[in-house]
Amino acid sequence: MAYQSTNPYNGKVLQTFEQISDAQLEEKLQTASSCFDAWRGTSFAERSAVLARAAAILRERPQEFAELITLEMGKLIQQSLGEVALSAAILDYYAEHAEQFLAPEKLTTPRGEAMVESSPIGVLFGVEPWNYPYYQIARFAAPNLMAGNVVVVKHASSVPQCAQAWEKLMSEAGAPAGAYTNLFISKEQVAKVIDDPRIRAVALTGSEAAGAIVAARSGQNLKKTTMELGGSDAFIVLEDADLDKAVKHAISGRMGNSGQACTASKRFIVVESMADSFLEKFQAALEGFKPGDPMDKQTTLAPLSSAEALDNLVEQVEGAVTGGAKVLMGGGRIDGQAGAFMQPTVLTDIDKGNPAYHQEFFGPVALFFRVLDENAAVALANDSPFGLGGSVFTQDIERGKRLARRIDTGMVFINSAASSSPELPFGGVKNSGYGRELSGAGIQEFVNKKLIKVS
Ligand code: NAP
Repeated sequence: MAYQSTNPYNGKVLQTFEQISDAQLEEKLQTASSCFDAWRGTSFAERSAVLARAAAILRERPQEFAELITLEMGKLIQQSLGEVALSAAILDYYAEHAEQFLAPEKLTTPRGEAMVESSPIGVLFGVEPWNYPYYQIARFAAPNLMAGNVVVVKHASSVPQCAQAWEKLMSEAGAPAGAYTNLFISKEQVAKVIDDPRIRAVALTGSEAAGAIVAARSGQNLKKTTMELGGSDAFIVLEDADLDKAVKHAISGRMGNSGQACTASKRFIVVESMADSFLEKFQAALEGFKPGDPMDKQTTLAPLSSAEALDNLVEQVEGAVTGGAKVLMGGGRIDGQAGAFMQPTVLTDIDKGNPAYHQEFFGPVALFFRVLDENAAVALANDSPFGLGGSVFTQDIERGKRLARRIDTGMVFINSAASSSPELPFGGVKNSGYGRELSGAGIQEFVNKKLIKVS
C-alpha cells in the first residue's frame, strides 16, 4: 500500500508518496550504519545538543507540526498541539538525563576491579503507529539516540507527512545523515530490514497482529525486540469514589484522541451502588460532544483516523450487539457528516461469550459492566488478553494501591485516567507486549550492559 495522507474529516487525498526501491533502502541502511560508527563516538553533550535543539524547534513552531497531525489522522488541533509539546518534553528529558541513566556502575568484587558500562548496540529499527505520530517516534528515538544508537523508522502509511516532518526536524536540529532515517517501505521490505545484519534490534508499537509478525521475524534472527501493543484498560469505580471526578476522567480517558489510544479507558467496571449514578452522568457528558472540523478549536468530537477505521468499529459494535450486548447510546456512524465520525457509544450487558468481552475498541465506544464489589472488579479487569494500563477510583488511596497491585497490567493510575509523561515508564504485559519506553527504563532496552573486569 502506498504512503498516503488522506484527511479523515472530508476524505480528501492530500498527498501520496512512493515506496522506496530496494536499492534506495540499501543506501539508507548503509548511511545509517556508517553514521553509527561516528555517532557512538560523540559525547553525551554533543548528542544532547541535537535533541535539545529539536525540542526547541517544536516549541518555536508548534502550529506547523500540529496541523500535519490533524490533517493526516484527524486529531483535534488542541490535542495535536499537546502532542507536539509532549514530544518536545520527551526530547528534553533524555537530553538532560541520559548520561545519568547510563552512568557506569562500579561493582563490589572480592578481587580486582569490576564495572558495567552501557554501550550502544547499533542501528535500531522502529515500526510505529499513526495514533500519536510524533509522540510515538519521540519515545523510541530520543532515548536511543542519546544512548549512541541510530534509528531507522517505518511509520504508519497513513501519516507520511508527519514521518517526513520528523526526519526534517532531526536534520534541522543538527543530527548527521543516518542518525534518524525515515523509511517509506512495504511490509516485504520490513522483513528485509529485520533480516539485515546491520539492524541490531527492533521496536514496534501497534496491533497484536503486527507485533506477532515482527517479533517472530526478529526472533528468527535472534534480535531483541520491544512490543508496545494494544490494550483494553479497565476503569474501576468503587463505592467510595469521588463520582464527579471519576466521570470527568472517564470522559477524558475514553474520548481523548477520539478513543484511539492504546491506554484509553475501554472497560468501565463500576460497583453496583454507584452504577446508575455513574452511567447517568457519563451519558449526559457524552451527549455534549459535537462533531466538526478538528482544525476548529471549538470542535469537541473529531473524526476517526480513516473511513476504514470507522467501518471496522461500526462492524465491531454490530458484532457485540449480535452477541447480546445492549446499546445504551450511540452505536453507529454519525449520519450527515462527510468525515469518519462515530457516535459516542455505550454498550452494556456484555457477557463472557460475547466477542466484545475480549476485544479492544479503538474509538469512542465504552463497554460498561456492573460488579458487586472490589474483588469482582479485579477479577473482571484481569479477565482480558491485554495487560496494558488501568484506573482505580477510590478516596482511600491505600485501598487503591492494594487493588493496583492485584491488577495484571504494566500501569495502574489511581484517581485518574491513564496519562503519559517522560519520567513514567510505559508498557504492558500479556498480549499488550513487553519492554518499556520512557523514563530511565526506556533507555536501558537497547544498550549493551558490558562488564569490564580488571584483575
Ligand atoms: P498496526 O496496524 O499494527 O500498525 C502499526 C505499524 O505496524 C504501522 O507502521 C504498520 O504499517 C505496521 N504494520 C502493520 N502490519 C505489519 C506487518 N504485517 N509487517 C510489518 N509492519 C506492519 O496498528 P495501528 O492500527 O496503526 O495502531 C493501533 C494499534 O496499536 C492498537 O491496537 C493500539 O492499541 C496499538 N498501540 C499501542 C501502543 C502502546 O504503546 N502499547 C501505542 C499506540 C498504539 P502500515 O501503516 O503500513 O500498515
